[in-house]
Amino acid sequence: MSRKVLKHRDEPRTEINPGKTHVTNSTTVIRDVAAALEKWAPLGLAESYDNPGLQVGDPQRAVSNGLVALDMTPQVLKEAKRLKCNLIITHHPLLFKPIEAVTPASYVSDLCLRLAEEKIALYSTHTNLDAVRGGVSFALAEQLGLENVDFLTHREDSLVKLVTFVPENAISNVREALAMAGAGQIGNYSGCSFSSHGTGHFTPGTRSNPMIGSAGGGPQTAAEIRIETEVTRWNLHQVIAALLDAHPYDEVPYDIYPVEQSFRNAGIGATGTLAEPEKLDEFLRRVSTALENQALRYVGDVNRKIQKVAVCGGSGSRYLSAAIEQGADAFVTADITYHHFFDALDVDGRPKIALIDPGHYETEFITEKLLVEFLSDKFPTIKWHETNTRTAPVLTFVNVFHTDSSHVGG
Ligand SMILES: [Zn+2]
Repeated sequence: MSRKVLKHRDEPRTEINPGKTHVTNSTTVIRDVAAALEKWAPLGLAESYDNPGLQVGDPQRAVSNGLVALDMTPQVLKEAKRLKCNLIITHHPLLFKPIEAVTPASYVSDLCLRLAEEKIALYSTHTNLDAVRGGVSFALAEQLGLENVDFLTHREDSLVKLVTFVPENAISNVREALAMAGAGQIGNYSGCSFSSHGTGHFTPGTRSNPMIGSAGGGPQTAAEIRIETEVTRWNLHQVIAALLDAHPYDEVPYDIYPVEQSFRNAGIGATGTLAEPEKLDEFLRRVSTALENQALRYVGDVNRKIQKVAVCGGSGSRYLSAAIEQGADAFVTADITYHHFFDALDVDGRPKIALIDPGHYETEFITEKLLVEFLSDKFPTIKWHETNTRTAPVLTFVNVFHTDSSHVGG
């Protein structure tokens, strides 16, 4: 497939002493790239079965050229060598299951061995990138020309409320430390918290080091401010560490409560609208053209107009009911099984929604461009390349002599 043109920005290369493998602070190292990606797509957002993060390599090693691909393949490794890349970033992790030996014995272990021998690192950002605003499904929605894009479903059980009690003279420090650590993100706002004044009561123990009163002394009171703020579960560890560091007490009082509402900045899939409603045929052509595939499987009512569309990059058929609940006219995702297609039908066998499967690679290759744009913005001195390789192992055979209709079997 010739869909790709090799792209990179023309900023000057970071100068790296080729004799050095561990470099000074002024040079970007793999850990810096990982930190930027994980600030956008925290690893804690990944599904439990997943294994995103650094797959192969030394996080302290310098990066001068990076290659982005959907999958790690021998062809991608060859391309990385040709482009003198020291880092490959893929969406799909190479390492899912433990490998018993790093030898040429299997596809995965052989690639690991060759990456290590070539001193090329591999980093993957997978279901954590699916779950963030502006992630894979948002990119897919935009590729299809959808407007007003937002999540299809929001992440449940993501938030806790952190409450702490702070002496008045430390309130600014503690509030700032919590915000800097990422507490209080609500929609487009950051550093959100609420404060209320009150009185703290305590009796210092013999081994204490109190700010007020003395160790082993009598009961004390202190003017304190209660701060409450929302924290995501995946960021809680970092926020508590920042709190303990900034709070002046030797024993820092804090409580963590579960909260019921969903987190607005994490979810799965996306929805959006077409500027004008389209016939199903037109919409199928739009999908096929935008995702550059030759054939797609679908269930749909040819007489129904499509305007509201739900999408989910990769295997998203379990979100079909969410797409129907959201009132979508069509749901575009991949890896839909034969039996899942029946779930799109009503009791009379008529389609409730157009359910469209253009293919796994086809709904996710836009991730390559998404990551190249993100990384080029964050690290402009590094050359970021989008792979020229179609990494999908699956091909589609189209029998043009047999196909006299665009809806074979439909
Ligand atoms: Zn995928």
